[in-house]
Amino acid sequence: MKKRDFIKIGGLAAGAIIAGCKASPADVSSGRSRVAGKGGGTLKLSYRPYELQLRHVFTVATNSRTTTPVVLTSIEYDGVTGFGEASMPPYLGESHESVLNFLSKVDLEQFTDPFLMEDILAYVEGVMPGNYAAKASIDIALHDLTGKLLGQPWFRIWGLDPRKAPVTSFTIGIDTADVVREKTLEASAFRQLKIKMGRDNDKEMIDVVRSVTDVPVFVDVNQGWKDRNYALEMANYLSERGALFIEQPMPKEQVEDIAWLTERSPLPIVADEALQTVSQLLGMRGIYSGINIKLMKCGGMHAAYKMITMARQMDMKILIGCMTETSCAVSAAAQLSPLVDWADLDGNLLISNDIYDGMTVVDGKIFLPDMPGIGITEKKS
Ligand code: MG
Repeated sequence: MKKRDFIKIGGLAAGAIIAGCKASPADVSSGRSRVAGKGGGTLKLSYRPYELQLRHVFTVATNSRTTTPVVLTSIEYDGVTGFGEASMPPYLGESHESVLNFLSKVDLEQFTDPFLMEDILAYVEGVMPGNYAAKASIDIALHDLTGKLLGQPWFRIWGLDPRKAPVTSFTIGIDTADVVREKTLEASAFRQLKIKMGRDNDKEMIDVVRSVTDVPVFVDVNQGWKDRNYALEMANYLSERGALFIEQPMPKEQVEDIAWLTERSPLPIVADEALQTVSQLLGMRGIYSGINIKLMKCGGMHAAYKMITMARQMDMKILIGCMTETSCAVSAAAQLSPLVDWADLDGNLLISNDIYDGMTVVDGKIFLPDMPGIGITEKKS
């Protein structure tokens, strides 16, 4: 699907969007002269559905899949275009249909200043409850746009040192011993692995990985363990094998069991499915010792920054994660990565039809390109 297939919203012709996408370095460097109110115009939102093809069948405790639906967005202002993305894995309940429906109700043309981010995002939040991936797709495009207008990457606007970006994990899905061994060997460029667990071969999963590599690992159970005694036994087993932490070991509803586990576990217990938005963060105190922040859960970069600030005050560990996404949403999350303890930003590497270049992994570590906005460019087709 080509750029021209973006659904037109408002009075902007698709051709103008295409022109806007190609902001040259000169355009970007002259961005300061077109800061809001100077260049005039309104914000114009465009979007189109897209289907990500996964390189491998992706199996977690609750399901398997080979594709992930996403919606690609753009916001154009004064000839500059910011890109965004909504990714909708099945467990969050959003879909192509729901995201397109949400975006069709959003009227950004009422805004003439893209830097009024608080006002714009408060308006978007109020359009409909929920729909956080859809909201994230606007938030990310708005950050990309404003960063480009300022001529600066967001890590710099936030005052972050890109050299402090952590290593990122690579995810090994649940599979047979042979496939797990093969995937672990394929991931030899990574200095941290995320191992999916929660079916009936948990110990085999870690043992096979450990037979191939000594790199630090962490484990994501996706709510797959139901018995707290088994969970504690596994926590000890994993701790002895060099695991860093365990993500969402039990169903989020088993609050007391999780708090019991967190108190006894030698490893931090990190909330993923249990925690979506900033408003739920205070409720994690005493139950989990860390959180997994994802832009698609919380509504974007603005909310994620707030969550990181708040979680630090609560003395919680922070993992920044992603869904299967293009380099757009992954690079947006990567802008925040110098602030967190651990990163799991491999979603773009799990797909075969990425349409952007952005964040890269160099020697296992997140490398943030020194480019304005979220640091992405469209791949040349
Ligand atoms: Mg998880």
